[in-house]
Amino acid sequence: MKSDIIIIGGGAAGMLAALGAAKQLEESPVGGTVTVLEKQQKIGRKIMVTGKGRCNFTNVKPWEDFAAHIRSGRPLVDPAWHSLTPDDVIALLKSNGMQSVVERGDRAFPASHLSGDVVDALRRAAMIAGVKIVPGCKVDSIERGSRVFRLSCTVTTVKEFGRKPGPVRTETTTEQVTYSANRLIIATGGLSYPWTGSDGDGYRFAESLGIAHTDLFPSLTAIVPDGYKETDLTGYIERRTPLSPKGELFNGNNLDNVRLSLYIDGSLSREEFGDIEFTDGGLEGPLGFAVSRDAVKALIKGSKVSVSIDLKPSVEPEKLDEDIHGRWQEIVHDPRSRGASFRKLFHILLGKLMPWELTLAFLGDNPSVSVDSLAGMLKDWKMDIAGYVGYERAVVTAGGIPSEEVVPKTLESRKIPGLYFAGELLDVDADTGGYNLQCAFSTGWLAGRSAAASLSV
Ligand SMILES: Cc1cc2nc3c(=O)[nH]c(=O)nc-3n(C[C@H](O)[C@H](O)[C@H](O)COP(=O)(O)OP(=O)(O)OC[C@H]3O[C@@H](n4cnc5c(N)ncnc54)[C@H](O)[C@@H]3O)c2cc1C
Repeated sequence: MKSDIIIIGGGAAGMLAALGAAKQLEESPVGGTVTVLEKQQKIGRKIMVTGKGRCNFTNVKPWEDFAAHIRSGRPLVDPAWHSLTPDDVIALLKSNGMQSVVERGDRAFPASHLSGDVVDALRRAAMIAGVKIVPGCKVDSIERGSRVFRLSCTVTTVKEFGRKPGPVRTETTTEQVTYSANRLIIATGGLSYPWTGSDGDGYRFAESLGIAHTDLFPSLTAIVPDGYKETDLTGYIERRTPLSPKGELFNGNNLDNVRLSLYIDGSLSREEFGDIEFTDGGLEGPLGFAVSRDAVKALIKGSKVSVSIDLKPSVEPEKLDEDIHGRWQEIVHDPRSRGASFRKLFHILLGKLMPWELTLAFLGDNPSVSVDSLAGMLKDWKMDIAGYVGYERAVVTAGGIPSEEVVPKTLESRKIPGLYFAGELLDVDADTGGYNLQCAFSTGWLAGRSAAASLSV
């Protein structure tokens, strides 16, 4: 089977690569065919799980502010972002039936808050543009001929018999198929959430073609405080490792409007303000994710990692101390306190200063706390970090194909003409807030347009 342009991967980058290529071919006198090979039975499986099912698909900040949230690969994203901006993505989705809303922090969502609407709009756009999508088609290997790329694929077809709600029987068949293309775009995603389909094939393809990638590691993932899980392991700690009694005290609780400082080998590395979520994975939520990239990288290097939480970032220590002593006097002089132990009264004081559900966890971490030392400890709740949760629940993969291997203006391989890379497979990763999907959309679009433009040269 043959197509002028083949895109491996029907995710955010792959679908936009197909649309970019189709648009370019429409404008070119030579024309051509565009095919997307997707290993899953449906395109956009990862888009479906983004933003907790709401899909924060872009961020409408201007480039300078947007770029400040790209943690690696800014030069790679720059030309791509300018070829397809967040406003362009919003317009493209709108012209394919999806309205958007922009919320706090310039984050854009489908107005329905359903990620499926993004996938539907992309599928519709591809259909109108004449893109052929082959679901269930897993590319196993790539061979480079003199002028073509030959792809060995396993195509899985699932047929359903019977009608819902009655019993439905499925029959699965597989066949080996070879595809060939003049231009090839690899948009197979990273390693995170592998069940969505992105499980690292793209890095293997790149290696097989002699193209190097930088070190890979999970980012936007939970970091695990020391003693939080029933394990002595450090570094990568599987998400499903059971919680320790200490972890149980934290799990399910949030801290809002706090400051989180990350220390690497004792030096302050990053400071963030916002919300923390303690989950069965560890410390996550916006602040946990924000520091996770640096924390994971440091843990892999064998550095000592710790965090400090300031529960009262907007209050000066002296003022907080004054407030604590005032509250303490009220509690001890309250007639209802008569006969109560110091421990009980201190616990009541603590409950007035932080979420009640986290007071036992705080006392466990700060056993020697007193009324006099409480202000200092509330402003500096220290935790050593033992490890991090891996790709099974990390939002993105950091590292990938760097700008040494691709030309940023076209995203074409510097070594292999006619080969392009896009999306998370590149050495590009960003903060949460719609930045990662926009990077995938933009790099996909640019790779698609470049590949199609090169056909007519
Ligand atoms: C839980 C979660 C929530 C997220 N929320 C957000 C959010 O709200 N906002 C945001 O901006 N970003 C979010 N992200 C990140 C964002 O989803 C990714 O950055 C983005 O999807 C990357 O796009 P991609 O096209 O490069 O890769 P993917 O979307 O992973 O697509 C790659 C595709 O390639 C296919 N594929 C892989 N190998 C082969 C092969 N051998 N043959 C054929 N097909 C193959 C896969 O099946 C997959 O469909 C989230 C990620 C996760 C995991």
